[in-house]
Amino acid sequence: MSETCRRCRITIDTYECNGCESCVSLMPELFRMSEATGKAETVGDIAPCSTNLDRTAAVCPQSCIAVERL
Ligand code: SF4
Repeated sequence: MSETCRRCRITIDTYECNGCESCVSLMPELFRMSEATGKAETVGDIAPCSTNLDRTAAVCPQSCIAVERL
């Protein structure tokens, strides 16, 4: 049940990521750009589930952010 969900696993398909930085702009506490690859990466793989996180994943133009409820 979503009401009991507290943690989510975030993964980015870096092959698909186009480096637009939208996720970083929306949630800099969870996403950052890799200087090495120019693609997004997660600050941590596990984060609290939130509406903002769902929205950020939905905004990704490449649909390459996966949010899995644990
Ligand atoms: S919003 Fe998606 S395509 Fe843009 S940087 Fe983030 S993961 Fe990459």
